[in-house]
Amino acid sequence: MAKKNKQFVEKITAMEEDFAQWYTDVVKQADLVDYGPVRGSMIIRPYGYAIWENIRDILDAKIKETGHENMYFPLFIPESMLQKEKDHIEGFAPEVAWVTHGGDEELQERLVVRPTSEVLFAEHYGKIIHSYRDLPKLYNQWSNVVRWEKTTRPFLRSLEFLWQEGHTCHATDEDAAEETRQMLDVYASLFEDYMAIPVLKGRKTAKEKFAGAKYTLTIESLMHDGKALQAGTSHHLGTGFAEAFDIRFSDEAGELQPVHQTSWGFTTRSIGAMIMVHGDNRGLVIPPKIASKQVMIVPVAQHKEGVLDKAYQLKTRLSDIARVDIDASDKSPGWKFNEYEMKGIPIRLEIGPKDIEQGHAVLVRRDTGEKIFAAMEDLETKILELLEDIQINLFEKAKNHREDKTSIAKTMTEFKNSLENNPGFIKAMWCGEQTCEEKIKEETSATSRCIPFEQEKVSDTCVYCSKPAQQQVYWAKAY
Ligand SMILES: [Zn+2]
Repeated sequence: MAKKNKQFVEKITAMEEDFAQWYTDVVKQADLVDYGPVRGSMIIRPYGYAIWENIRDILDAKIKETGHENMYFPLFIPESMLQKEKDHIEGFAPEVAWVTHGGDEELQERLVVRPTSEVLFAEHYGKIIHSYRDLPKLYNQWSNVVRWEKTTRPFLRSLEFLWQEGHTCHATDEDAAEETRQMLDVYASLFEDYMAIPVLKGRKTAKEKFAGAKYTLTIESLMHDGKALQAGTSHHLGTGFAEAFDIRFSDEAGELQPVHQTSWGFTTRSIGAMIMVHGDNRGLVIPPKIASKQVMIVPVAQHKEGVLDKAYQLKTRLSDIARVDIDASDKSPGWKFNEYEMKGIPIRLEIGPKDIEQGHAVLVRRDTGEKIFAAMEDLETKILELLEDIQINLFEKAKNHREDKTSIAKTMTEFKNSLENNPGFIKAMWCGEQTCEEKIKEETSATSRCIPFEQEKVSDTCVYCSKPAQQQVYWAKAY
């Protein structure tokens, strides 16, 4: 058995050896995705899709709780419509997919496969908003979008991905600002409280903000290899789209005013973050709250009388308190142990003739590997306790990892040393000049991740030019 186990695990490259290969191995071995027929596209397999469904359901409930309604827009955008907002088209043009033909006929006007739906919402809002009584409008859609990326990786960057995009209209700038912040907090809660991933909250620099936005708020997370990942963004769009699409309302005094808009998006990229934050050399580790299967029952010596009956009984019984599955196939227990470790299922429950005789079951935690003997009558209590404990432990572990990999740099020498010796987030001061931001990227390939809401003055001068500093910024190499 030991030999077999070893071989199975060897199919995954060790993350210390080659993190990118480890990621690809895990995504494939855990059966989350398959590659699509077009380069850079992905087929999300049932096990991967079930994780997305859980995340989506949690977020959808939060979106509705905060007063938003779901609707659905078409996939195609006429070229002329995308041209209306200048910054927006400039930002997206390089990665847009075009439709030029319908059947045999060349189209009069090219169509864009939506890379995002700001302009579709804006056009629609222009038609339905007339008076202050029509505001706010709080809409969201769940959909797919297409971005023609040059380099692609499953979940992290694919030609097509799934997401939700919220688009709202407000009477005042303050209302839009409040909405922008509220939805960032919703994303942060989803990441921290459900996906067990700690995030930094802040604002993007002007260089990194969304094309067409007044400003962009972001949550940033740190992966196991010390690279950052933008986990979700919320944009204050100001009145730019309202001016371009003539979305105006008459206020209480009867004056025509442009609406103030927001948009915010959360994507299947989050699954990539989950893999790279919690995974280890045995495969995935899925936080209990988003795991499609929280407990996997593996019968041991299942040919012996009573074992399978008992295992199925436990499945029925425990399904009242958790998402439970059983593998009663004729594969060996050793194969099953490895398989469900690979799949990151939070708890494995082993039950064999000896366990039945002694009135207990064996529970094995995926996060620590710890084995626990739990009396039959205590199983519900024990499992609920363990699921909660695993959830907390994963968050704490990720937070400690992020703290270990966060450095302070007062000079560019310190900056480069940190990137070299302890890659992760770097806290450094910035003068606010875009040229310094660009130079840092040029010299180190680290980008500004965010200007955190919680500012920490780590020195008086800009890390690059030594002029007086305006703000503290988090920097990192990023996905
Ligand atoms: Zn500077």
